[in-house]
Amino acid sequence: MSFNLTALLRENIRNLVPYSSARDEFKGEASVFLDANENAFGSPLPHDYNRYPDPLQHQVKHKLSSIKGVPAENMFLGNGSDEAIDILYRAFCTPKIDNVILVPPTYGMYEVSANINDVEVRKVNLTADYQLDLDGIAEALDTHTKLIFVCSPNNPTGNSINPLDIETLLVNFKGIVVVDEAYINYSKQKSFTYSLPEFPNLVVLQTLSKAWGLAALRLGLAFASKEIIEVFNKIKPPYNINQATQDLVLEALNNYEVVNEWIRETIKERETLVSQLDALQQVEKITPSDANFILVKLQDPRSLYDFLVDKGIIVRDRSKVALCDGCLRITVGTKLENERLINEIQEFYK
Ligand SMILES: *Cc1c(COP(=O)(O)O)cnc(C)c1O
Repeated sequence: MSFNLTALLRENIRNLVPYSSARDEFKGEASVFLDANENAFGSPLPHDYNRYPDPLQHQVKHKLSSIKGVPAENMFLGNGSDEAIDILYRAFCTPKIDNVILVPPTYGMYEVSANINDVEVRKVNLTADYQLDLDGIAEALDTHTKLIFVCSPNNPTGNSINPLDIETLLVNFKGIVVVDEAYINYSKQKSFTYSLPEFPNLVVLQTLSKAWGLAALRLGLAFASKEIIEVFNKIKPPYNINQATQDLVLEALNNYEVVNEWIRETIKERETLVSQLDALQQVEKITPSDANFILVKLQDPRSLYDFLVDKGIIVRDRSKVALCDGCLRITVGTKLENERLINEIQEFYK
């Protein structure tokens, strides 16, 4: 396949000379660091935060590499997945000239980030069963189409996208296919990270914000070829992942057993929630979910939403979103939270 990364990049990025930090310029052993204008006395905290953090987060990547089975050189860490999404636009899309393809209903940040970067969005809705419309995508794209975003399992529908369809895109599209796997830990599908050696135009996004329970620390992951990762590293702010996040993530990654237990429990709770909702005659459809939330089509979604808010329970009203007519998106909570939710929904429809 003729994939040409250099040709795909924006001209200004192709020619970019990246910022060279003090930590980039000196790499040896030393005991006196007077090169970065830091406060040599320390920081007014129990931990030492007076030194700039490792710009390339070697320790965190090393540990993630053993968990994910992806070499560190194929890994980029961002201030949330949001930073990786923004960098994709800045690397590949020339404002007012290039375009991207989005497949609604899907995650809202892809469009917001396009708008911030002044990049045209071409929308090709998913099919009625929330799968890719490959013919529609083929018709919508042209030589200025740089990115296609596919979220699998998809937010807000919860289902996985057929991996064979994603492969069809990867084989036939000359731009970058971004597969957002924010919910992969809950899915039966295999991660696309295993397909990286096969596809030079693949970027996989993951995050520690969902199954790992670290949304507040803001750590997003992007996996891609070494060449694409080098471009990302050139564009990112030098110290994009702060020291506190690097320290806490290193510690958290040791606790994968509790995380795996939560994943099993979440899936079990999800199935309970589905069967209880399914028993209500006012529930019209529940999309089979591979994630930690479910999309439910039911009667009077807005009134139910307001009723639940009144009871102190917040779900997401998606009833005005394309192909989500009448739908609420409900995150799976603890057993107790789910029981409260079901009781209130039964109360509302009584
Ligand atoms: C929650 C979510 C993310 C996570 O974003 P972060 O910035 O890493 O917290 C990414 N993609 C999708 C589809 C999501 O639902």
